[in-house]
Amino acid sequence: SSGAHVPVLVIGTGYGGSVAALRLTQAGVDVHMVEMGMAWDTPGTDGKIFANTKTPDYRSYWLRTRTKQPLSNFLGFPIDKDVPRYTGILDAEDFSGITVYQGRGVGGGSLVNGGMAVTPRRENFGAILPTVNPDEMYNTYYPRANAGLGVNNIDQSWWETVDCYQYSRVGRKHAQRSGFPFVFVPNVYDMQYMKQESAGSVPKSAVDGELLYGNNYGKKTLPKTYLAQAKATGRLAISPLHKVTSVQRDGASYTVVIEQINTTGDTVATKVVTADRVFFAAGSVGTSKLLTKLKANGALPGLNGEVGKGWGDNGNVMCGRANHLWDPTGAVQSSIPTAGIDNWAAGGAFAEVAPLPTGIETFASFYLSITKNPNRAEFSWNASADRVDLNWQTAWKQPAIDMAKSIFDKINAKEGTIYRTDLFGVYKTWGDHLTYHPLGGVVLNKATDNYGRLHGYSGLYVIDGALIPGNTSVNPFVTITALAERNIDKIIATDF
Ligand code: FAD
Repeated sequence: SSGAHVPVLVIGTGYGGSVAALRLTQAGVDVHMVEMGMAWDTPGTDGKIFANTKTPDYRSYWLRTRTKQPLSNFLGFPIDKDVPRYTGILDAEDFSGITVYQGRGVGGGSLVNGGMAVTPRRENFGAILPTVNPDEMYNTYYPRANAGLGVNNIDQSWWETVDCYQYSRVGRKHAQRSGFPFVFVPNVYDMQYMKQESAGSVPKSAVDGELLYGNNYGKKTLPKTYLAQAKATGRLAISPLHKVTSVQRDGASYTVVIEQINTTGDTVATKVVTADRVFFAAGSVGTSKLLTKLKANGALPGLNGEVGKGWGDNGNVMCGRANHLWDPTGAVQSSIPTAGIDNWAAGGAFAEVAPLPTGIETFASFYLSITKNPNRAEFSWNASADRVDLNWQTAWKQPAIDMAKSIFDKINAKEGTIYRTDLFGVYKTWGDHLTYHPLGGVVLNKATDNYGRLHGYSGLYVIDGALIPGNTSVNPFVTITALAERNIDKIIATDF
């Protein structure tokens, strides 16, 4: 409530925030988390907490009146539809040249993501986080993150035969016929549960196409892992539907302004609290936007010139391929991806063999590529519009497209197939308008010290994807979690 004082306030409940909350509460510190999204613990009008991907509704989008589906078209026809404005789970946040998809709610991105839990190859780590000791990461913090997240592997003999991974087996066949390494990747989805779903003995989630708007069963999200453990200490409080708008120094502590919102996004109360320490864990975009604004508007004028810089899209680009009639990908597709094509060393691309869970046979293979796109953007405060802008340009995706083509041009040539041009518009091959993997903006050892302490303000920390300079070579949340584990270890040992 307004006027309260807390020892530690954490802004955001995604990976970075959840690691901070667990390790601090275990160390005996009381933690209060502030989350702008909903708690997602109560069933909706259909008896389920989350909406299905095939039937988006009021729960699906963050304060939009029309859906903004990543695949906007099918057979060229637009598939978006009107929905009531609501504090839904997936934010399609528009900047000038890119739409950044993010999870909103207690658990952050863990609520909406595909659960792919990939530790980067060690030889790539130096390019990902150049000032972090790889021995510590690979011996201690990556294993700790994998354990905390509940990462598991699919039973490959089951994968070889089950209908819902036919699309993935077609992906393997085409990769291998063109000489590309095909790799299985771990996941946080409970693979035993998926077997039971597939056998029809439990309610379906992944096998019924649930993804993007939440999984009602099976996925080990942060509220079931890190946050559940933190709550069990009795030292954690979480305020959903509360958005931090300002942080300012006040003697030895910080004054934090928080707006409480209702489910249509209107502010219903403004609260002012004080905190000895504040952890920014609002995600790459959320943390960068807040700190860029607070530096510019005079609330935190001593932040250094690196704040807002070094933002990247993890080189994300999507595409589909049209298969021949003898290569159907299956009417039933598990929404949980299990594998990728690794052409990072030779071509700068790691392509996730992704599902297209439409419920009908599409003869399409669909891929989300992560590429070594070197372009980086910057956030800036736009005072007249009262918002933070990002100067990314759509044309900056061209290197990502070229790297993805290093895989798919070759596969198309070998198979005698073509790209699908009906998934992102009419005659549009590349999904180059979006990212699922925002990274950077408050880069480690630049805007902060080498452990996330913000320069100029003792007691202020960044502990989320904003620290990572734009690329992780694979899907990012395991690296975000492991880096947070490393940083909080140091911070608890030396600052508390
Ligand atoms: P987030 O998880 O984004 O958490 C930030 C939280 O802060 C959010 O809950 C947000 O609502 C809250 N917040 C923001 N601003 C404020 C504020 N001012 N006040 C209060 N709260 C605030 N990664 C993988 O590794 N594997 C995958 O398979 C994968 N699939 C993905 C699929 C989709 C559709 C999407 C969108 C992402 C996917 N990702 C995947 C990416 C992954 O989810 C993110 O990298 C990760 O969630 C980022 O973690 P974070 O801790 O930096 O922030």
